[in-house]
Amino acid sequence: MYTEEIQGLFQFLKSSPTAFHAVDSACRTLSGFTPLKECEKWNLVPGGKYYVTRNRSSIIAFTLPEGDFDSFRMVASHSDSPTFKIKENAEISVRDHYIQLDVERYGGMIFSTWFDRPLSIAGRVILRDAQGLHTRLVDLGRPAVMIPNVAIHMNREVNSGYKYNAAVDMMPLWSDFAGKGSFRDKIAEACGAKAEDVVGSDLFLYNPMEGCQWGVNGEFISAPRLDDLECAYSSLQAFRDLTPRGHVNLCCVFDNEEVGSGTKQGADSTFLSDVLRRIALACGKDEAETAAMLAGSFMLSADNAHATHPNHPEYADSQNQVFMNEGIVIKFNANQKYTTDGVSEALFHAVCQKAGVPVQHFANRSDLAGGSTLGNISGSHVSVNTLDIGLAQLAMHSSYETAGAKDVDYMIRGMRAFYEADLTAVDDGEYRLN
Ligand code: ZN
Repeated sequence: MYTEEIQGLFQFLKSSPTAFHAVDSACRTLSGFTPLKECEKWNLVPGGKYYVTRNRSSIIAFTLPEGDFDSFRMVASHSDSPTFKIKENAEISVRDHYIQLDVERYGGMIFSTWFDRPLSIAGRVILRDAQGLHTRLVDLGRPAVMIPNVAIHMNREVNSGYKYNAAVDMMPLWSDFAGKGSFRDKIAEACGAKAEDVVGSDLFLYNPMEGCQWGVNGEFISAPRLDDLECAYSSLQAFRDLTPRGHVNLCCVFDNEEVGSGTKQGADSTFLSDVLRRIALACGKDEAETAAMLAGSFMLSADNAHATHPNHPEYADSQNQVFMNEGIVIKFNANQKYTTDGVSEALFHAVCQKAGVPVQHFANRSDLAGGSTLGNISGSHVSVNTLDIGLAQLAMHSSYETAGAKDVDYMIRGMRAFYEADLTAVDDGEYRLN
């Protein structure tokens, strides 16, 4: 019953337990693309397909047209998800009978969804040898820890709005006392190294449960990390086989959206502006031409959206609520947490209409703050016409989220239509669109 898109999405989610793995999965998706290094000069050729990573947790891929170009066409999503990061000196002894791991929260997850389910551990390690330092991915790839609930007999308040304490309730159980001192060894062993050669690490818990399709007609999908790997996957699928004409296509997946994007590789960094500048320079564009190109460029900021909840429809705005399987969500916010405005909405709407892709409109209830995302943050560095979109989902930031089975296909087709649209800026607020 799985469509090719859903099978592909589940495989992508499974191979992407952390942002590092998501970028590695993206690189493998981009077969035939030439990897570039930020620390070297770039020689680009017309029709070339390239990608560059930063921190190995953010990636920007781009394709050049065969002929000249006058603008950039970009889609941005994020590689990270809320989880727990394992601290240095991880092992905690409990009454000389248990070993727990010391963790801290990364982003804003729903705590209760992390209890009583097998969790695994993945991330990256830095290895030291005679030549220098090397980064390796690591994934224990099996049930490795558990965060056990307290029995209801000892915590009668657990169903009455219990307040979880991240420093007490969320510590995962690693082993009995026989496992004392084993954590570093197991991590080293999982990447074929000796514990003494591991000189640095960024390790996270993750939910290893696989995606599933369900509902009376298979209309729903559930999986970990749908926010925002569903959009990342869709953008890669839409992007990778296209050859642009008259503009440069870019597919960007940024790390650290869940913690505000303020890192060297996040959307609030110079990563995108550096890449755009280097493309322009390598293709012989001068400063004036580059400025003109930016003025005629477009970006989709793609991050999942809140479907109206069946148990709590009152949390949705009465006029601008969205549902799973009803198309790409265009997000609006008067305070511009979402970048969509009348112009960008009109352009994208027209593109989707032509492609036969349904869209729906989302705004938060006026008394609810809602979240923020990539578009307005990226816009402070690369100021172009931007639209915030996403797919409608339930239980955002749960360790297992739910979305619509039809929507992946809508998103891939909508993004592809955006990349291919015959769209030119001719003046401020004036566009030619065929
Ligand atoms: Zn997100």
